[in-house]
Amino acid sequence: VIEENKKTFVTLDVKPLLIDEISAEKISANLKHLTSVPHVAGTEQDLLQAEWVRDRFLESGLDEAHTVPYDVLLSYPRHGVVNTVELIDEKNQANFTTAGRQPPLGTPQDSYDKVLMNFNAYSGNGIVEGNIVYAHYGRDVDYEELQKRGVNVTGHIVLVRYGALFRGSKVVIAAKWGAIGVILFTDPMDKAREGRNFTFPDSWWLPGMGVESGSLYVVDGDPLTPFYPAIESAFRLKEEEQVNLPRIPVQPIGYDEAEILLRSMSCENPAPQEWDGLLDTPYCLGPKPLNPGWKVRINVSTTNEMRRTYNTIGILRGSVEEDRYVLLGNHRDAWTFGALDPSSGTASMIEVVRALGYIMKNKNWRPRRTMVFCSWGAEEFGLIGSYEWTQQFAKVLSQRAVAYLNVDVAVGGNQTLRGSAYPMLKNLLIESSKLVPNPNAAEIAAGRNTVFDTWAKNAPDANKPGQPAVGNMGGGSDFAPFAYVVGAPTTDFGYTAEYSYPTYHTLYDNYQLASEIVDRGFVHHQAVARMWAITAADIADATVLPFDIKSYAAFLNDSLNALEDKYDEQLQQNNATFKYFRASVDSFSKATKDFSEKTLATVNVEDPLEVRRVNDRLVQLERFFIDPKGLPDRPETNHIVFSVSANNAYGSDTFAGLVDLLFQVGNKTEAQDPVTWNKIRQHLSVIAFLIGEAARSLSDNL
Ligand code: GLU
Ligand code: ZN
Ligand code: ZN
Repeated sequence: VIEENKKTFVTLDVKPLLIDEISAEKISANLKHLTSVPHVAGTEQDLLQAEWVRDRFLESGLDEAHTVPYDVLLSYPRHGVVNTVELIDEKNQANFTTAGRQPPLGTPQDSYDKVLMNFNAYSGNGIVEGNIVYAHYGRDVDYEELQKRGVNVTGHIVLVRYGALFRGSKVVIAAKWGAIGVILFTDPMDKAREGRNFTFPDSWWLPGMGVESGSLYVVDGDPLTPFYPAIESAFRLKEEEQVNLPRIPVQPIGYDEAEILLRSMSCENPAPQEWDGLLDTPYCLGPKPLNPGWKVRINVSTTNEMRRTYNTIGILRGSVEEDRYVLLGNHRDAWTFGALDPSSGTASMIEVVRALGYIMKNKNWRPRRTMVFCSWGAEEFGLIGSYEWTQQFAKVLSQRAVAYLNVDVAVGGNQTLRGSAYPMLKNLLIESSKLVPNPNAAEIAAGRNTVFDTWAKNAPDANKPGQPAVGNMGGGSDFAPFAYVVGAPTTDFGYTAEYSYPTYHTLYDNYQLASEIVDRGFVHHQAVARMWAITAADIADATVLPFDIKSYAAFLNDSLNALEDKYDEQLQQNNATFKYFRASVDSFSKATKDFSEKTLATVNVEDPLEVRRVNDRLVQLERFFIDPKGLPDRPETNHIVFSVSANNAYGSDTFAGLVDLLFQVGNKTEAQDPVTWNKIRQHLSVIAFLIGEAARSLSDNL
């Protein structure tokens, strides 16, 4: 008995009960409510839905649930004013003006009037005029290609296709190459592959006037309170001091509108063939207009404003280890009705909580550890709710957070599960998927009875026959502060198709899309909710944490092998070495093997102190990879092994601190670039030190 005055609870395998209890109909009803009105962060609906989620949590029997406000810098189109892109003729008359809002299609929605005009959050505002250069996906390689073809974008407006990398990164790159404004559009090749006449609501493809909104802020969290929480006492930067806010105007438009802009360009400079899309016009590079004297004008009145956003935090207290937290999170804010992004996740989380509450009440069961349910605000603006909260609770989370399980878009397609995780959780995710019945009737008919079976078929792991490949954590959702700042094992998963759904961040991400097109019967939502519930319950209820530390060692070893293959010779020629890095990985391999085979295999589960000792080592292991000073020149990201790619806020990199420095130094020798080579040597020593200490932490050696 751990504490005599504590109530006793039964122990049971809660996973089959959760699988039984989680209801597709209830998820559908939750989603119906959440999508009845747009719920953009910082608006009235932010608070109303935060309270609604809180009330659902309390009604389900959580011990506590409350809203947590933060005052942060958000961004909105000016009320009643439409942002436009115009074609201006030689007499300075507008020949064509974009609509600025998306037409209602499909089942009428009462709150259509409340939908914001098309915009990109944190766009610079004002009017710019110039000629257009088509810059493909807007990556550095695209501008290099333009340069090769004699096209300089300086002083021009770039027309950039959505896709391939985070939109905010596109704007940083465009500004760096000298563009004065950016027009974003989605090419039908990417999101309307079966032609203009087979789009929402006849299919899930993007209509010609569908427009992806979205944030342009590339460093996450509240822009005015970097590193610290946006609480009342916080010191706030002035807006102009935040150098990562875009300065140039940016406006997203529909592909019907992009086609008109492309047609206004002269085709002296045809685009490379791979840059073509499916629009019914040649793709030309510009900047020369077809008609002499014509120009393009962007007029953006979007402004940044201080607003209040809310997280909802629900707590289910653990029976034995009340001060160890297994966290589940999903954002609540959306650009419009947000049926798939993110309400499919919110509707599922509410159902996970209800099912847990029901089982607690009926079976007198509680998980061993505390479970924390997080409904984040203002994710869409730059992961703001989750960053502010993790910044506020940083020290406590560092001591007590066991794992963070994120679901953003629970269902972005109905083909297969996709997942990414830190190495210690990859196996657990795979094991969970074996317990969840396949939601797809055709798959069952083909003999694939579980989520695992379809996943393993669709995303096979090249190195492990029969297993699905679990990706590494990238960026772009609320797991990021847990992964890269706190240093907690994290995962993110959901149902998907070959690519995610085409009406992402548009008006057409609504209940009709979810219920009639992507997930009839809500069975894929149910499968994801089941995955989420049982994975979380597994971690929360296991006596000894199910963390796979040997896979972490294997991962480090593989990554180092790849680095050595590529750079060993270059390092040696420049007085640098992988020697200590190698030694630390070897000692990590040995330590994790010993700990698994000796300590974990023989732990006396009847001895609470011994159990706690072992679990504490497992909980703290990931934290050893956190460098409080951050990666070289990137103080905001602290994990030395994993990080978001520096040039794409959606991408993931391994040992980015090192790889980015090696990229920067290029072919330069130590004599030619002593500064960068010094940084490389220094970072190598940090890596070796931290991995070595991680290894040592599994022993009692000081
Ligand atoms: N998920 C949001 C998006 O893709 C925010 C991503 C971020 O700011 O990192 O636009
Ligand atoms: Zn989302
Ligand atoms: Zn989103």
